[in-house]
Amino acid sequence: MIKFKNEIPFVEDTSLNNIIGVCETPFYIYSQEIITKKVEMTKKILGDNIFFSVKSNSNQAILKLMNLLNIGADVVSIGELKRSLSAGFSPNKIIFEGVGKSKEDLMYAIQKNIRLINTESLEEIKLIQNLALEKNKNVNIGVRLNPNIDGGTISKISTGKKTDKFGIEITEIENIVNLISNCNNLNLIGISCHIGSQISNIEAYKNTFIEMKKAADKFTSLGINIKHVDLGGGFHIQYNKADPKFKIEDLKRELDSCFGSSIYELSFEPGRYLIAEAGILVTRIINTKQNGGVNYLIVDAGMNTLIRPAMYNAHHEIEPLIKKNVNSETYTVAGPICESSDIFVKNISLPKQIMGDILFIKNTGAYGKVMSSTYNTRSLPSEVLVNKDNFAMIYIPNKIEKDIEEDIIPSWL
Ligand code: PLP
Repeated sequence: MIKFKNEIPFVEDTSLNNIIGVCETPFYIYSQEIITKKVEMTKKILGDNIFFSVKSNSNQAILKLMNLLNIGADVVSIGELKRSLSAGFSPNKIIFEGVGKSKEDLMYAIQKNIRLINTESLEEIKLIQNLALEKNKNVNIGVRLNPNIDGGTISKISTGKKTDKFGIEITEIENIVNLISNCNNLNLIGISCHIGSQISNIEAYKNTFIEMKKAADKFTSLGINIKHVDLGGGFHIQYNKADPKFKIEDLKRELDSCFGSSIYELSFEPGRYLIAEAGILVTRIINTKQNGGVNYLIVDAGMNTLIRPAMYNAHHEIEPLIKKNVNSETYTVAGPICESSDIFVKNISLPKQIMGDILFIKNTGAYGKVMSSTYNTRSLPSEVLVNKDNFAMIYIPNKIEKDIEEDIIPSWL
């Protein structure tokens, strides 16, 4: 994402030095060009029914861009639903998933007439029927099925095995159909699944497609006219050279061989695939030290800014912003948080760095800012969107004093 012109780092046609001049580290930068290209390439291969998984990056500017690129939104909370509506998505381009939707969440979605509410339990189907009856409305629903497939990803982001909390077991189809036959206000028009995130195993996708096609056919044979088959997201991206490569063309081949010319309208819900590679996290070295022979660079971004390394053992590549002709050293890059797990990467080789130098952490457009927190009472990171030679701050965090003021001390203290 960063290109060096005469040793000066650029994102698109914008010099990073200009951004650093006005934006305090740590901050995320996204490239509009990279997002646009990735969305267009994905649509070209998988078709127009792409619903951006808002959980991966829910900044209003990013959502507005996704909407302008003419894809839909896949949301997993009422907050994400509100964000998507306020960014301009028309309700009929929004799908609402989620294993725990409250009565209030469902009522809001029903009132907004969104495209589809994907239900995740038989109890939830009954609840939606009651709410739809109360509002005297007919509501389109889908069911998220659990195809019992191990996508081969790490357990923390696996969602498609039958013991995972997501979806309704495929063996329950007859029970779903029986229940729906008594739900006069519901139109069951879709099925969906999502077997997990960061999945490179094409065989797992192939098996999922086969299970989902069988499930759609079974619903049809039981008299339910399934129109939409949503095959989830989870497409893998290469975070570092050791990561396997995932080719969307391979997925498309399996898709065609499974669904061929079937009548179902197929859709997908990628998040990471569309935006991870379009983002970097820029951070400044605020201390250097050696402990027990380990050469630490302490940076101002921490696990509160980007939690993926601490939470998922993710390995993001890190590079210096300024090219220096000096000898390399082996470094462990750590954040300032008071936790031993606040380490971004161990034992990487970088040209000698000193306090004040700037590093950038690659492929952080997805599950970066959205998962950030004020842990240790630190500020959230800012966000910047670059478009050619233009850039704009798209998120400016509260001053820490404002966060502190939001606590309420009761009168008896
Ligand atoms: N759809 C659902 C229901 C999800 O839970 C997720 C994320 O886990 C996604 C889509 C997007 O996944 P990814 O960002 O890996 O494409």
